[in-house]
Amino acid sequence: LPRIGIGIDVHRLGPGRRCVVGGLEFECEVGPIGHSDGDALLHAACDAVLGAAGLDDLGTLFSDRDPRHAGRASHEFCHEVLELLRQRHLRVLSLDAVLETERPKLAARRPELRARLAELFALPVERVNVKGKTGEKVDAIGRGEAMRATVVALLGPA
Ligand code: MG
Repeated sequence: LPRIGIGIDVHRLGPGRRCVVGGLEFECEVGPIGHSDGDALLHAACDAVLGAAGLDDLGTLFSDRDPRHAGRASHEFCHEVLELLRQRHLRVLSLDAVLETERPKLAARRPELRARLAELFALPVERVNVKGKTGEKVDAIGRGEAMRATVVALLGPA
């Protein structure tokens, strides 16, 4: 039977950080602050997949107190999460993502974001979606202080 999972991740934005979203680098005056590269979209996607599989969450599997994960590229977490799925004879069937942020602007690179997520989670591109939203000037996201990613994942037998 299919299994559904949800993942949510927030990162503060600050100057002097590479701006990595969904495994892509964006030209931007601010970037996500985090122990790894701070890729909120990939963190939320991994948590959605792990949740659907009934596994521990990303923060438990890859602790932000572990120096081995400092500055780590989050696409490596995706590979490890997929390996955990394989061991359990599961695969990702679809992903749907919402990224709320004032910066960077995502619209022009949505096709690239979909393709990259599809590649990282071994899916055809039409089974992945990424929607960008602003924070409508409300709360920390609207003020441009943080970004938030929310991802829903559907899994099925491998
Ligand atoms: Mg995170």
